[in-house]
Amino acid sequence: MGPVIFRCPKTQKEFDSGFRAEVADLETMPQMATIRLRCVICAEIHEFKFADGHVGEAASAQPR
Ligand SMILES: [Zn+2]
Repeated sequence: MGPVIFRCPKTQKEFDSGFRAEVADLETMPQMATIRLRCVICAEIHEFKFADGHVGEAASAQPR
């Protein structure tokens, strides 16, 4: 379980959407499903496709 990361289309920076999911959860989402989020980087509302997101490392990731 890790944070779902989206890329801000305005700044091209990635941010944590606040959702937590398994990689498999994202893969089973309809690829065209979208979600509207307030971007924590530029504070605007963007619409993201789940297909554009990815699951990042959990904050408590084990050392490699
Ligand atoms: Zn943004």
